[in-house]
Amino acid sequence: MFPGGGNHARHDRTFSARPSARVTTQKGSGPVIDPVLPDGFNTRAVAAHEPGTRANRPLSPPVHRSTTFEAASAEEHARLFHGGAPTFYQRFGNPTTAAAAGKIAELESAESALVFSSGMGAISTALLAVLRAGDHVVAQDAIFDQTHRMLAGPLAELGVETTFLDPRVPGAVERALRPNTKLIYLETPSNPMLHVVELAPLCALARTRGILLFVDGTFASPALQRPIALGASLSLHSATKYLGGHSDVMAGSAAGAAALVARIREMQILLGTVLAPDAAWLLLRGIRTLGLRVARQSRTAASLARYLAAHGAVAEVRYPFLDGFDNAAAARAQMSGGGGMITFRIRAGGDAAAAFVERLKLIVLATSLGGVESVIELPFDLDFVDPSGQRPAWVRFSVGLEDEADLRADLEQALR
Ligand code: PLP
Repeated sequence: MFPGGGNHARHDRTFSARPSARVTTQKGSGPVIDPVLPDGFNTRAVAAHEPGTRANRPLSPPVHRSTTFEAASAEEHARLFHGGAPTFYQRFGNPTTAAAAGKIAELESAESALVFSSGMGAISTALLAVLRAGDHVVAQDAIFDQTHRMLAGPLAELGVETTFLDPRVPGAVERALRPNTKLIYLETPSNPMLHVVELAPLCALARTRGILLFVDGTFASPALQRPIALGASLSLHSATKYLGGHSDVMAGSAAGAAALVARIREMQILLGTVLAPDAAWLLLRGIRTLGLRVARQSRTAASLARYLAAHGAVAEVRYPFLDGFDNAAAARAQMSGGGGMITFRIRAGGDAAAAFVERLKLIVLATSLGGVESVIELPFDLDFVDPSGQRPAWVRFSVGLEDEADLRADLEQALR
């Protein structure tokens, strides 16, 4: 908890875990799916954990760049160190990064949170904080490539064994558990194939067995999905994506119970995966509009997913709120919108998919996601491996804030 200011907007901690979406019909374009965010979500995004007292408080918070802070006495200096104050030394904490972390904790309905130098910084630090030689992990097979590599490479070499499986298969996770299983690691919706894993039953299983359960919810953001309210131990994000939201800051976050977050902070101090104050300020700025951006991106994406699914040049569309989606029930049970990510397959094959992304004029060919600009890429041309061995025709599309009609026109001219 950030101790700095006098009038932090403090809130009742828990948002309801039950999501909702409003479906209306618009003439000529079919149903419109508007995510309904929990009451108070946007208020928290704006007002929670803004540092400072009411008297002359700057509405845009200062960036505390100082790496070190003066203490009034030797006794106070020791107290700042032992008390985990954000005014001791920057690698141990900083008022600007603490404000960003506090705001994320509020949005996640979590007791505590930390911010990191990147999403991988958050994931690697959290894994190293809880895993030791001899431990076993059950991890989703379809997780972000570099998370997979962290578990299968360095952590395996350090003596941590991981069983990779598809947690959507009923009973698969439970069957894989061993007496030394320490952690269940999930990513939902997953990158890039949008596998949706139903969290509540797996969280209940983990709790009963005394096993930690981490969820990377980057694709949904806390606006659409809050794993802590569903019983997860830790909610992880690449804050580079929706939380930052403007493709101008690299960051990560981890939110959960205070004791677990404190343990992860100890590892963060050793690894030095801290977020710089300027980056934390950009993150704070981005978070203020998180709910608005994600609700709009989700609404546009739901509509474009339907358009793509009906297009003859497209063979398959993966979008959590699309009719016929394989995990539709799980998506609707835990997300208040399908999100801004669509993954689809071009019927004419991999070369045609490459030609398609090159023909787009408004939608930008670039990696990453979650920003205000629509970006597109061929995910399997980078670091994801297609099991078929052919040049994959899958396209990963991050829907931005442009007008839907313009995005649709751009897709249409490039697909034609
Ligand atoms: N998790 C997911 C689901 C991601 O998509 C990414 C990045 O693409 C990461 C983690 C890693 O985040 P970062 O690039 O901020 O380290």
